[in-house]
Amino acid sequence: MIDTHAHVAATWEGAAYEGGTAGVLARAAAAGVEHVICVGAGGDVPEMESAIACARAFAGVSAITGIHPHDAKNVDDALWQEVERLCAQPEVVAVGETGLDFHYDSSPRDVQEATFRRHIQLARRLKKPLCIHTRDAEALTLRVLQEESANAVGGVIHCFSGTCAFGLQMLDYGFYLSIPGIVTFKKAGEIVETVLQAPLDRLLIETDSPFLAPLPYRGKRNEPAYVVQTLRKIAEIKGLTVAEVEQATNANALRLFGPRLAGKLAPAP
Ligand SMILES: [Zn+2]
Ligand SMILES: [Zn+2]
Repeated sequence: MIDTHAHVAATWEGAAYEGGTAGVLARAAAAGVEHVICVGAGGDVPEMESAIACARAFAGVSAITGIHPHDAKNVDDALWQEVERLCAQPEVVAVGETGLDFHYDSSPRDVQEATFRRHIQLARRLKKPLCIHTRDAEALTLRVLQEESANAVGGVIHCFSGTCAFGLQMLDYGFYLSIPGIVTFKKAGEIVETVLQAPLDRLLIETDSPFLAPLPYRGKRNEPAYVVQTLRKIAEIKGLTVAEVEQATNANALRLFGPRLAGKLAPAP
């Protein structure tokens, strides 16, 4: 199993896991997780650097770096230069998470859009895929991606929890959908429908740790070890075995993010 989106080295207040990053990765390995993509996308350089340092320190970890739409208002020329430098590092397998969040509106919408466009242009220059965060902004997300020809590098809608119609549009545009633990919740109708209709070769799995723990851990702190619950739910929805879905989602992650994803976490002691 590959957890394609987890904040396991974040620098924000209260981000630490029991046993630290080493502890959370050991529990993941014990649960059968082979690789974790560590996302460093707050609004500053230390947050991005923490993800890259994690990928350098642990086998079986890769990084995604960028500026979260919440923090788009922080971007000035100096910070952007650092984004460009850090995203070019070999441990970084995708640019992001970037996109539009019109639910929280933590940054002005026009600033979010401008920063989103910059990330897409950077991903195209670096020839790396995009990790997209989108909430309450589906139509504009798709339009910006199309206007910037993001399909030249492709990417993933991370923590997919939108409408089925949007999910299918993104699949049409060549993107992958990363299914979060929310799919195990009772009111996950649109996500379940999207999983049902999406081809198996375009789905990824993620936890978005420490947020959004799947059933039966809902309300607890999430961690990569729990990604197996999402895998099981997708297998149930599609009427496939867990092994079939695991094999397919692993192959999908390798196809999208590259050969670095074949690196494996150290086995649990
Ligand atoms: Zn996100
Ligand atoms: Zn995230």
